[in-house]
Amino acid sequence: ALALPAAAYMLQEKEAHAAEMERSFIAIKPDGVQRGLIAEIISRFERKGFKLVAIKIVIPSKDFAQKHYHDLKERPFFNGLCDFLSSGPVVAMVWEGEGVIKYGRKLIGATDPQKSEPGTIRGDLAVVVGRNIIHGSDGPETAKDEINLWFKPEELTSYSSNTEKWIYG
Ligand code: ADP
Repeated sequence: ALALPAAAYMLQEKEAHAAEMERSFIAIKPDGVQRGLIAEIISRFERKGFKLVAIKIVIPSKDFAQKHYHDLKERPFFNGLCDFLSSGPVVAMVWEGEGVIKYGRKLIGATDPQKSEPGTIRGDLAVVVGRNIIHGSDGPETAKDEINLWFKPEELTSYSSNTEKWIYG
């Protein structure tokens, strides 16, 4: 008689977590790749408990970079920024987890590395705003748009890992 409610409870818990799962687009920019920081950056997201569900290395065209940064097209640094993003390989990733969009931004740190806290990726590993080594989606809508821009649906994986019960309880 106890077995069924317990199983139902477990299922509810699992569904509750699934509902809270979100995905963020994270990219290591050409400076981070050239400086040999790929593993360091991936490691920070991985150790936190977030799950890597898509990854590839690509050299974006300038046109593609302009699409990615379309929100910034009126800014004076837009052209230089797009030239820079398309100047070399970028590691494009999708990370999944509870709160990954907002907390991913915390792991990354403030846009200007001079203002990023020590302990953050930009705070520890970058010096100037034009070479701040990493991009992370700034909200649920941009995350969706950026994932769709950089990845085809079949490039996104979906899997469970045995560590999840130790990360989420
Ligand atoms: P974030 O990447 O933290 O979301 P923004 O969306 O404001 O920041 O800007 C996108 C990128 O544009 C930054 O990561 C940085 O590489 C570049 N950028 C922002 N501000 C400047 C600036 N004043 N001068 C040069 N590049 C800038």
